[in-house]
Amino acid sequence: MGFTIDFTGQTIIVTGGNRGIGYELSKGVAQAGANVAIIYRSAKDAEQAYKCDVGDAELVNSTFKQIDDELGPVTGLVANAGVSVVKPAVDLTSDDFKYVYDVNVLGVFNTARAAAKLWIARQAKGSIVVNSSMSSRIINQSAENQSLTQIFYNSSKAAVSSVVKGLAAEWAIHGIRVNTISPGYVKTAQTSGMDPKIREYQAANIPLRRFAEPEEMVGQTVLLLSDYASYMTGGEYFVDGGQLIW
Ligand code: NDP
Repeated sequence: MGFTIDFTGQTIIVTGGNRGIGYELSKGVAQAGANVAIIYRSAKDAEQAYKCDVGDAELVNSTFKQIDDELGPVTGLVANAGVSVVKPAVDLTSDDFKYVYDVNVLGVFNTARAAAKLWIARQAKGSIVVNSSMSSRIINQSAENQSLTQIFYNSSKAAVSSVVKGLAAEWAIHGIRVNTISPGYVKTAQTSGMDPKIREYQAANIPLRRFAEPEEMVGQTVLLLSDYASYMTGGEYFVDGGQLIW
């Protein structure tokens, strides 16, 4: 029996789709036939890219409307943009908190709401996939400095997992599904600065014994966007090489 995911004729927005994991997600969604709109903050490095700070609710609403008008009806959202601040806890400031939560929590909420507004207005179904992190469950060390724990990053990812459940519960009646993928360690700029000895140590603690390639986040994301996941909402799916088993 064939198993094909085909997003032809659909427009899917990927926030932070210009680099890192988001770049692979936008490529994967495009390979499945979707018209992809990328949202970036500063570094434009892609076609069909829209500059928009996900923390700015008004700008997010108008950008989503613009994408919907220019590229055709939006049917899916991958809320991938995320940031961290790595400092000793005693040095963290309120501005650091705001910087991280504005993107990782409010940014996810703003973009999910902008998509839901479009769908509810035209009584269309839609699917949202949020890129959280396994650190929604555990206090993982910073890749750059293993003696630090990224308090604001970890707690923002725990918060966003709860936001997803709330939105999924509230919007199910509209045919809008909201799910989370939570990666473990992925080979990106974020983890490339790691001391090789520490990387080896961390990898040894992962049942699959290695960090993920960014493209290994694509399968679960595309599945959750598709109708094959029509009975899945409010879920958090760990793509972590089994790390949370231990
Ligand atoms: P990168 O640092 O490589 O990329 C972050 C992306 O988010 C960039 O495209 C950036 O845009 C965008 N972005 C940041 N702030 C904003 C904003 N205010 N408005 C719009 N876009 C913004 O991240 P990764 O690829 O490493 O991570 C992607 C996601 O995966 C994040 O949510 C991260 O928490 C999560 N994750 C990553 C893991 C890893 O090992 N790398 C592990 C687990 C989860 P620009 O380039 O314009 O600045």
